[in-house]
Amino acid sequence: MDYKLRMRELIKQINEHNYNYYILDNPTISDAEYDKLLDELMLLEKQNNFVFDDSPSKRVGAEVISNFEKEPHKVPLYSLDKRQSIDELKVWYDDIMSKYPDTKFSFEYKFDGLTITILYENGIFKKAMTRGNGIIGEVVTNQVKTIKSIPLSIPFKQTVIVQGEAIMLKSELEKYNKNNPEPLKNVRNAAAGAIRNLNPQVTKERNLDMYFYAVPYIEDDSIHSQQEVFEFLKQNKFKVHSYNKIVDNFDEITKLINKVDKEKEKIDILIDGIVLKINDFNTCKELGHTSRFPKFAIAYKFAPQELTSKVLDVKFQVGRTGKITPLAIIEPIFLSGATIQRATLNNYSDIKRKKIKINSYVYVRRSNEVIPEIMGIASDTAESKEIEMPSVCPSCGQPLKQEDIETFCTNYWGCPAQIKKRIVHYCSKDAMNIEGVSEKTIDAFYNEFSIRYPYQLYDLTKNDLLQLEKFKDKKTNNVYENIQNSKNPTLEKFIYALGIRNIGKKTAKDLAKYFKTFENFKNATFEQLVEVEDIAEITAQSIVDFFADKKNLENLDELKKRDVVVQESKNNGTGIFEGKTFVLTGTLDNYTREQATFEIESRGGKVTSSVSKNTDYLLAGESVGSKYDKAMSLGVKIIDENEFVNMIK
Ligand code: AMP
Ligand code: ZN
Repeated sequence: MDYKLRMRELIKQINEHNYNYYILDNPTISDAEYDKLLDELMLLEKQNNFVFDDSPSKRVGAEVISNFEKEPHKVPLYSLDKRQSIDELKVWYDDIMSKYPDTKFSFEYKFDGLTITILYENGIFKKAMTRGNGIIGEVVTNQVKTIKSIPLSIPFKQTVIVQGEAIMLKSELEKYNKNNPEPLKNVRNAAAGAIRNLNPQVTKERNLDMYFYAVPYIEDDSIHSQQEVFEFLKQNKFKVHSYNKIVDNFDEITKLINKVDKEKEKIDILIDGIVLKINDFNTCKELGHTSRFPKFAIAYKFAPQELTSKVLDVKFQVGRTGKITPLAIIEPIFLSGATIQRATLNNYSDIKRKKIKINSYVYVRRSNEVIPEIMGIASDTAESKEIEMPSVCPSCGQPLKQEDIETFCTNYWGCPAQIKKRIVHYCSKDAMNIEGVSEKTIDAFYNEFSIRYPYQLYDLTKNDLLQLEKFKDKKTNNVYENIQNSKNPTLEKFIYALGIRNIGKKTAKDLAKYFKTFENFKNATFEQLVEVEDIAEITAQSIVDFFADKKNLENLDELKKRDVVVQESKNNGTGIFEGKTFVLTGTLDNYTREQATFEIESRGGKVTSSVSKNTDYLLAGESVGSKYDKAMSLGVKIIDENEFVNMIK
């Protein structure tokens, strides 16, 4: 056979597999089989000293260049005008509607990465450019070619320029930072730095991705709306985000914005807002541009999640397990709805790695569900000085011990901070759920009544409590009752409440489900513990160590004497959802996510956060997200709320 024919065939097959893998997220062959095709192609290329323009081998091996060439864009790339509040957005919207009452809009994510345009001629990827100043950009062809989800050839044969955002997924950044001494500060910088790197190999290693949203130029002028832009892009196998929607009223827009604002932390892509574009291109043309912005599109920006601030001081805190955590005191900043004055630095290695110093400016990020974190250094000042790691525990004064990258106080029974935090943990909502007992209360219990073990809580009398500051009759009664009423915990909550190192809520649940009774759990050997699914050796060892400690056993005995009786785990493996995996999307009428999860789990099922081929059911409520599309493409059974209610009846 003509080698060129075989090469075409291989390119076709590899491109198809690429598309299945990177765009549809649904691989149809193994990595090894894929590599075999690629190897054969590269061998033929070498033997014949011939490479097709769209060969996947061009994604690698391009040479390091000495500088980026600059070139004018064929069509200038405008920036987007911005609005920061719904009210301001409404003014813009009303203005358009007064001129064009039937306008429909495209509602899209505003991806936070680096804008790239790609020129295709005769169906072949010819040139990629950054936005630059919008008039002149930089040629980054070889860098962009390393992004595997971008097609190197497309069915459309006339000249076309497509535009999108090169991004790095948050999970990729985490992966990268885990293995790298020089951490990247955020996905936006990471993506921009990867593309604007003279060595395409560096770009490749960052595993970027790209989402497309515009066609600035098309030779045959065949696109007349934003909807058609997306159709064109999809037909030519560019990655398009499944969230895009056509909307035609402001209520819907507001609703969608609120939804995205809530969900943005949970998705793997960094978005800094949404974009609204008039769908019909005739209307767009009539509206035209200002000198910088199109008048037919607008960005609504979310309040920032990340700002810079100055580190004023660093305090070292002792956690429940003795772990020492540095906490930075920073100049107050207002970040996504709250004033922030403290941010975590995780551990001392992190401080060194991120080169954080006192009096330096740093990036602070706050996500909805986690404490603010210092991501990296922005700039040093003349007063910048190194942060010193204490050599002894700030609570008990005992020398600290280094374990891998973390530092610990190992004075388990003698460290006031650890003892207090263990009792706070014992009382917390997901543990014994003793309401009305704050950290301050435990402080008072520790100081006034020498409480050192959880069992001692049950000996407190109302008279004791009445002696404490702020404890009047009502509060005293409440706290007393809450303590006494906590004597019959579920196994899961009790295991969690003990505060065994490495045991979080999920692990406690797994253990409870497996062992069924507290006695079984307590008597389990290391070998039995590692049998439990998802229990790592280090966790098993923590459990064994915990029960080897006489004082822990004493606490358990004393709890028993005070009638603290752990319930047996009721789950006996016959639930109707046993072995079934659910994913939830959209909002349900009669259940919150937590309630629906409870209904599923209490019947033996499992709830996971993303759809895969292992998902049995997608439970879909109102306004579903991209999980819906994915479930459709994988053929996962989709059920609505009614069907769900019928199943659990
Ligand atoms: P800004 O960089 O804040 O001025 O916002 C304009 C930029 O938003 C554009 O240059 C694009 O890089 C980016 N962008 C992200 N997502 C979209 C989208 N869906 N449509 C248009 N532009 C987008
Ligand atoms: Zn200590």
